[in-house]
Parts: sequence; structure tokens; C-alpha cells
Amino acid sequence: MRNTMSNKNLPLRVTPLVEARFGLDGGAMFGIIPRPLWGKTNPPDENNRIDMACRCLLVEYGDRTVLVDTGIGSKWSDKERGIYKIHDQDDGLRAALDERELSTEAIDDVILTHLHFDHAGGVSEFADDAETVRATFPNATHWVQRRNWSWANSPSARDGGSYRKLDFGFFETSDDAPPLELVDGIAEIMPGIEVLPVHGHTFGMQLVKVETAEHTFVHLADLIPTSSHMRDPYVMGYDLQPLVTVEEKREVLYEAAKNDWVLIFEHDPKMGCARVEHDERGRPKAVPVSL
Ligand SMILES: [Zn+2]
Repeated sequence: MRNTMSNKNLPLRVTPLVEARFGLDGGAMFGIIPRPLWGKTNPPDENNRIDMACRCLLVEYGDRTVLVDTGIGSKWSDKERGIYKIHDQDDGLRAALDERELSTEAIDDVILTHLHFDHAGGVSEFADDAETVRATFPNATHWVQRRNWSWANSPSARDGGSYRKLDFGFFETSDDAPPLELVDGIAEIMPGIEVLPVHGHTFGMQLVKVETAEHTFVHLADLIPTSSHMRDPYVMGYDLQPLVTVEEKREVLYEAAKNDWVLIFEHDPKMGCARVEHDERGRPKAVPVSL
């Protein structure tokens, strides 16, 4: 793999960025797992919510800047901010990019793992009139799996609350919306960046694999949202096809251990990056990596 990629213009740097912190119900986040087990690693607050991060990925080529996911964004009422405990935003990605002397205009591509609000919320923002929705990254080509785009536009009654047209509807309704590229299946989006679709969490979610000269990173999206979700039965209650998630997790963790991948946990409140080890009983464990 390394050899065939060596002539390509690979990304130079990969940086995880926390866009926001929020909270979701611990029971929903751990599905069938009893609270005495998950409560040890992820202690809930008085409303049973556990701490969650929105961890995006900045991929820099030198002449090209790519963002993986956009976090929860800013289009939230006070009531919603209370329900989802949205905090620590400090102007979200804009501030994180500022720190790196990058503007939102400088982002060339946005790869969306899927269109759930905690991943695609930051794709758009309110204009100054606080009503019109406009692109946050006006010069970026936005990449999403075609299957996820279709599902997000007509989700089931069960998962409809996770897909907000407010976030992504402007791609169809706004004349000056930036380009939207619909991807079919596994694809190399650009040199060193490949998307790998999985369907257990929702239809057409895509993991993002980024190869640099030093590491292979895989952004796990909601396949394994935190380091506490490594083992087979630790599957979110939100997942549409939990048994498919179990199989997809096994396959990804096997490949990750075999190929020494650095995994990125999108929602882990503390551990951003990890490698995988399996214990003597074959159970996967996240070993933190600092970049
Ligand atoms: Zn999520």
C-alpha cells in the first residue's frame, strides 16, 4: 500500500479539532448495556446525559485544506441548547481555524460522514438577518454518500429527528450554495483520502481514511463513537441496524489492529486518537495515541 501511494501528493498534516461539547442520554448512547457498566467510564449528569465531543478533522496538503465533518453548528435555540447541553463552543470551528490562521473561506473540501445534526450542523449558519441559512464554507466542495443524502431527505419516523433540513436543505434551495458531490460507495476523494461506507448506524454513513507519510488515520464517525464503544454489544440505541454495526465494527477493528491505523473517535469527551489492541480473550481495547 505504502509503495503504490508513494508518488502521490499525500496530505502533510492531520489535526483533530473539537468543534463543540454536548450531552446525549447515556442509555441511548449505550443501547442494551446496563448503566452500572457504562456509568463507570462515562458518568452521567443529573439528567442521565453523558459528555460528548464533536471532533472534526482538518487535513492539510499545503495547497489544499480539507475538513471532515462540521460539528453541531450554531443554529440552535436556547431551549435546544439546554436539551442537548451544547456548550464550550466559543464560536466553534471558526475559532479553531482562526488559531491556525485559516478562514472558513479557505476550506476547499468538506467531507461529511453523514447528515445527522451533530456532524452536519456546522455546514451552514444563519446570515446576519438570523433567518436566512447560508454555507459556512462557501468555497468548499461538499462530499456525502448519495445513499445518505437520499435517506436524510426522507428519513423514517424513528430517525427523522436526527436529520434537520435546516442544516442541509440550502444545497437545493439556495442559488449560491457551494457544490455538493454525491459519492457512490468506496471512493478515493483525493490522493490519500478514501471514504468507506458503512450502514449499521444509518444508511450511507462513510468513514474517512487519511494516509500521510507517517500514519494511516481513520475517522470512525458514529461506527465507534467513543473509546467506550469498542466491544461488540456496545452499540448505540440510535442505530438502525445494530447487528450490521457489530459486523462493521469487527471488520474495522481487525483491519485497524493489523495495519496499525490511528483511529479518531468523533464523540469521545477525552480520547481523540487511539490504536487498537486485542486482549487475551480477543476483546478490542483502545490505546490512546498523542499526535
Ligand atoms: Zn454523532
